Amino acid sequence: MTDISNGTVVYWMRRDLRLHDNHALYEALCSELPVVPVFIFDPNILDELSRDDARITFLHDTLSNLKKELSEKGSDLKVYYGDPIEIYKKIISTYNVKSIYANRDYEPYALKRDNTVRSLIESSGGVYYDYKDHVITERQEILSNSDKPYTVFTPYKKKWLARLEDQGIQQYPSERTLDQLAQLETEPMISLSEMKFERSTIHIPSTNVSQQLIRNYDKTRNFPGLENSTSRLGIHLRFGTISIREKAIKAKKLNDTYLSELIWRDFYSQILSNFPHVVDGAFRPKYDTISWRTDESDLQAWKDGNTGYPMVDAGMRELNTTGYMHNRVRMITASFLTKHLLINWRMGEAYFAEKLLDYDLASNNGGWQWASGSGTDAAPYFRIFNPASQLQKFDKELLYIKKWIPEYGTDDYVEPIVDHKFARQRCLATYKEALA
Ligand code: FAD
Repeated sequence: MTDISNGTVVYWMRRDLRLHDNHALYEALCSELPVVPVFIFDPNILDELSRDDARITFLHDTLSNLKKELSEKGSDLKVYYGDPIEIYKKIISTYNVKSIYANRDYEPYALKRDNTVRSLIESSGGVYYDYKDHVITERQEILSNSDKPYTVFTPYKKKWLARLEDQGIQQYPSERTLDQLAQLETEPMISLSEMKFERSTIHIPSTNVSQQLIRNYDKTRNFPGLENSTSRLGIHLRFGTISIREKAIKAKKLNDTYLSELIWRDFYSQILSNFPHVVDGAFRPKYDTISWRTDESDLQAWKDGNTGYPMVDAGMRELNTTGYMHNRVRMITASFLTKHLLINWRMGEAYFAEKLLDYDLASNNGGWQWASGSGTDAAPYFRIFNPASQLQKFDKELLYIKKWIPEYGTDDYVEPIVDHKFARQRCLATYKEALA
């Protein structure tokens, strides 16, 4: 076993669940000291989730695979359950920890948590090192010519692409230096039931995506009824089971539109960092004055996929059953909730956060604010998606609709809960009043 008398360093795994091309792991392995890999199940986060949350099953399975892989190398992944600060108080003395290495997380809770852990290790004379890994570009790396963060996607993307041409994408081959891991005894890992979770039966999409799919992405991506129209890699990018750098390098070779979607991900991440008020309110504050309706029964019909608008209902049923919803349909369902039903986008944002396997605060918030009109790149509020014409354009053969609404076309399918023309007028009048 590792001699810890000279100290160790901790590699703290969070949303970077892989051993290859991992920036913080790579840097930790380059330090002189043996590396102890650590993961902490944090009840501050877990207590908010439903007991059969599919993301926790996925997380648990992924960690147990990583643990196996590390134990085959004579090391281990130390998995803890508890408040990270309390856990670190123990870890620092148990392993004589000199420094902590982690990849950056940009969400408000994580920023606060990481600062406290930083202070803790510093108070024992150690150092907290953090790295960019979750995105290609972060925070203020891409600024306008007047040194301001971008709030519109197209010029941001142009600068992003110019930077890529200029600097390329550097990878971090952590997989080649795993012999620097501390030799550790394998300990059993906490079970799902010990954390009061049940195993979910929701299927997790594979990380294997064919080159063909990415090559055809610009032609297929808008059609939710096609089997392989998008990559479904969202959950893997969210938890870092794949490397965003690898994906972006491949995307650059294979399909510009796919690369552009990955740039949207960076764009919303920098919006969250540079305009943190979006977490609690509208990006454009005026939109916080809209008089939203409170209607529990409309909200429930939307959640259940019983609005009588087939594109909306199919999307919500897909979400409820699989934890996934196609991007085109996310736009339609979000627009319907905020414009047709005039229900505050925060309700929809929270429901997606509960259900989406690929839930990510920055992208979800960006998507919802875009749909409600209050966000960056927002179309003028008077442009309201018509669910019927969206259906004509993107699921003309009703492949998607029939998959998710078996009773479609029969008397059993619900009548629309609101008339399109009426809803459109109501939305226009209400938005106008707030924004005038
Ligand atoms: P693909 O189409 O194969 O795209 C590849 C990857 O690019 C995605 O996995 C994702 O990481 C990124 N990406 C694609 N489109 C976007 C986008 N518009 N914004 C940011 N990143 C993008 N995406 C999330 O990752 N998490 C969310 O919580 C989320 N919530 C959304 C809510 C609304 C209301 C809307 C309109 C969009 C939301 N998106 C979210 C963006 C997008 O819908 C999903 O990333 C995409 O549908 C995931 O499917 P996929 O993995 O097959 O993506």
